[in-house]
Amino acid sequence: MAKMDLTGDTYNNLTVLQFSHRTPKNSMAHYKCKCKCGNVVTVSHGHLRSGHTKSCGCIKAETVEKLRQRAKETAKYFVGQRFFSKKWGVAIVKALPTRFSNKKATIEFVGEHPCEVEASLSNLAKGFVKNPMKPVVCGKGYIGVGKYDTKGEAYDTWYGMLYRCYTDNEETQRYVNTTVCSRWLNFQNFAEDYSEMLAQVNVERPQLDKDLLSGLDRGLLYSKETCCILPHRINTALQMVCTVTKVTDAPCGVSLNRQTGKYKAQISRNGKGSVIGSETTTIEAATIKYRQEKSKYLADLAEEYKYQLPARTYSALVNKSKEILNEIQ
Ligand SMILES: [Zn+2]
Repeated sequence: MAKMDLTGDTYNNLTVLQFSHRTPKNSMAHYKCKCKCGNVVTVSHGHLRSGHTKSCGCIKAETVEKLRQRAKETAKYFVGQRFFSKKWGVAIVKALPTRFSNKKATIEFVGEHPCEVEASLSNLAKGFVKNPMKPVVCGKGYIGVGKYDTKGEAYDTWYGMLYRCYTDNEETQRYVNTTVCSRWLNFQNFAEDYSEMLAQVNVERPQLDKDLLSGLDRGLLYSKETCCILPHRINTALQMVCTVTKVTDAPCGVSLNRQTGKYKAQISRNGKGSVIGSETTTIEAATIKYRQEKSKYLADLAEEYKYQLPARTYSALVNKSKEILNEIQ
C-alpha cells in the first residue's frame, strides 16, 4: 500500500503542507505544497511520489531560459566560421551542438599548429579555447591531444626536462647542447612512454636519467631509447663521476688540504661523505683512489638494484663501474 498522508514530506522543491482533496473519479489524493520559490500549488499523490512534478513550474521555466540562452549563443556561430585570437590562433568551427544538447562545439585549429578540439560555447565566446599543439613550454613543448593531464609527476618531469634544455634564462639553463627528441616535445607521448618506463622499475624516488644509456651521444638527447629511470641514489652517484671542480682543478672527489699541501680523495655514499685512505702527494694518486672507490660503489648499487631495474639499465650500470676504472689507465 502507498503511504497515506504525505504531510511534512519534501519531494524535490516541494514540501507538503496539507491534504487538499481526492478526485472523485479515481480517488487520488491531492496535497497543497509549498515550492522552494514560495509559490503554493496543489499536486497529486502520484506526481509527488514519482517525481513527475518537482516544483510549482519554476524549474521548468529555468530550464527553458537556459535552453533559450544556449540557442542564442549557438546562433552566434556557424559551421565554417573562422576565428582569430592571440590565445588560440586561427580556428574554424567544424560542428555545433544541437539546440537542445549539452554537447560541445568542435573547433579545428588551422595554420601552424593544426588539431581538432572540443569546446563549450561559453568558452568559445570568452576565447578560452587553447590550442593544445601550441608550444607553450619554453617555446618547444606542447600538451597535445590525449588522455594525460598536467596534474601529476609526469608533467613535472617533462616540464623540468624542457626547462633544463630550452629555457631562455641563461642562469638557470642547465644544458646548452642537449635536445629533447621530437616525440617527447608532445606531452602525451612523453607521459605514455614515461608511465611505461616507470612500470618496469621498482625503486624509491624514481628519476629520469639521460646519461647512463646514451652511449656515444654522451647525454645529449632526451628520448625513450637514450633515457632510463633510476632511483635518486644511483642518479646522484652517477652525477659526480667526471666533473672537475674549478677551485682546485682536480677531478670531483679530490681536494687539496692547504695545511699539508697534500691531496685527499673523498666519496659520498648515500649522502654521507667519507675520506678514502690517507692523503697523497699527487692529484693523480688521489684520483685513482677516488675512481676505485666510486667504481666499487656503483657496482654495489648495481647489485642492490639488480632485480628492481630493467636488465638493460643493470648492465649499463655494471659497464659504467668498469669504465670508471678503465679511465685510470
Ligand atoms: Zn516554484
